[in-house]
Amino acid sequence: MFNNTSSKYRAVNEPENEFVTVHMPHNVWQMVMGFTKSCQYEIAGFGYVDQLADGSLTITEAFILKQSVTNASVDTDAEVIALHMTEMVRKGEDPGRMRLQWHSHVDMRAYFSAIDTGQIARYDCPWMVSLVVNKRGEYDIRLDMYKPFRVQIPARLVFDEVIDDSIQVLCDAEIADKVSVARPASFSSGLYSYEESELYSLDLNIPTSHRSRGGGKRAKLKR
Ligand SMILES: [Zn+2]
Repeated sequence: MFNNTSSKYRAVNEPENEFVTVHMPHNVWQMVMGFTKSCQYEIAGFGYVDQLADGSLTITEAFILKQSVTNASVDTDAEVIALHMTEMVRKGEDPGRMRLQWHSHVDMRAYFSAIDTGQIARYDCPWMVSLVVNKRGEYDIRLDMYKPFRVQIPARLVFDEVIDDSIQVLCDAEIADKVSVARPASFSSGLYSYEESELYSLDLNIPTSHRSRGGGKRAKLKR
């Protein structure tokens, strides 16, 4: 599990009490950091945010649009944003999912500057998640609500591990190829031996179901 405690990414400003959890799938975070690391200027991007049944939020995609940047500012044309949202509608997508605004402070501290908070104050929507990051992987996140009340809600980012589709396909094929169900007795394959108790927990039924759960398999080097 990839979470905040084991992560090298560091929240600059973690809320202590009540907060809204914002899930960040690892692959989406990699996009944000990838954009950040490949640009020596402050860049800004957007993302789609979904609400989960437990009241938390999850960011499902992060992307950039055409923009002009300088050393200390970033400007995404309102027309470009409007065009993107029109395109979403054309594709049958809900433009209301575009609820993440993220930007990079390059090598500077990841915090919401006066310019940032000024921009956040001007969003014209019911709510918005704002994220600022830097190249070191530091970040700050905030959730702002505009309707029916203008209020800032403490938010905490939680990183979720997501297995890449291509890796899952590879692992499914490897499991189907190399793993078979053994009879519950002492078993040795030469290099590896399984203890009886572990054998029972193997419970493999993979070739037909292609399931991805499989963390319980442990092999010991034969002494
Ligand atoms: Zn900023």
